[in-house]
Amino acid sequence: MRRFSVIRIRSLEHLFDLAEKGMTNPYFLAGGTDLLIKIKDDLLIPPFTVLDISGLQELRSIHFEQDYVRIGSLVTHGEIEKHPELRLLFPSLTDACHGVGSPQIRNRATIGGNIGNASPAADSIPPLYVYGAELHLVNSKGERWVKIEDFFTGPGKTIRNPVEIIKEIRIPAEKRDYGTYLRLGQRKALAISKISLALAGKKKNGSMEDVKIALGAVGPTVIMAVETSLYLRGKELSSEVIKEAGNIIEKEAEPITDLRSSKEYRKKMCSTLLVKALTNWKQVA
Ligand SMILES: Cc1cc2nc3c(=O)[nH]c(=O)nc-3n(C[C@H](O)[C@H](O)[C@H](O)COP(=O)(O)OP(=O)(O)OC[C@H]3O[C@@H](n4cnc5c(N)ncnc54)[C@H](O)[C@@H]3O)c2cc1C
Repeated sequence: MRRFSVIRIRSLEHLFDLAEKGMTNPYFLAGGTDLLIKIKDDLLIPPFTVLDISGLQELRSIHFEQDYVRIGSLVTHGEIEKHPELRLLFPSLTDACHGVGSPQIRNRATIGGNIGNASPAADSIPPLYVYGAELHLVNSKGERWVKIEDFFTGPGKTIRNPVEIIKEIRIPAEKRDYGTYLRLGQRKALAISKISLALAGKKKNGSMEDVKIALGAVGPTVIMAVETSLYLRGKELSSEVIKEAGNIIEKEAEPITDLRSSKEYRKKMCSTLLVKALTNWKQVA
């Protein structure tokens, strides 16, 4: 029996036609940096169908509109990290994309694949949480917009139907005063994050007005540190406030113990990363 078949998708209409006819276990191939490893390691149950979407030019562009920036799902981490306007608006996202894998991986791996793979350690996802991103999901039956935090249900699991494609990611074009992404891995390059923190914040009259913090690789999905954000609201960036925010996030985070790190270590590191992020903000403010 053939284990899998590969179909090169020529357009979204082509994809929708195939979906209407029915397919066995479809998987999208974008950059292939996650999917090809799963196929090679026999992690997918045959028979399945690989839908090669890498040639769909309509998913490769970035559009700046008055209220939103729209990033096509086939845009690579390399394109995002080097984009000067994205760096100005969403530094946490460009920092995160800069840290993915190696230059070779970043030139192939797409943002849609990073989201579609749904790893809680995926680097582009925490920044998309803090910037309030939404996903445009389309299939032959219609389309829907889903908030990024409503998309994931667990490691490798999402609310997406198998033939529903992430067409683009839409982010409100709102300028913040500061944004950063910090991660801890086994080593600097080519290592999955043990823990990561995305932060984006605004100030008003010298006080923090709206600070969003997302933690990656601490649970089955990315989580928002809501209590810590509430504590920071209306406060000045003083050393005491930074220290107390570190204590709060350590209590708030409920990480997991796994092969890569213990729960206790991850809790401490949530605090360490937040203190570092806020201290950096204080220094540039
Ligand atoms: C050596 C190495 C280092 C890596 N380092 C990192 C790292 O530092 N940080 C990190 O986050 N990741 C890392 N990765 C993982 C991987 O590169 C990323 O997750 C990447 O963004 C996946 O994108 P892709 O285009 O290659 O996805 P693919 O492998 O093509 O697809 C991945 C999954 O997403 C689904 N998918 C793809 N596109 C869509 C779409 N448009 N709509 C719906 N579903 C879709 C596919 O069906 C598949 O299940 C690394 C991988 C390797 C091999």
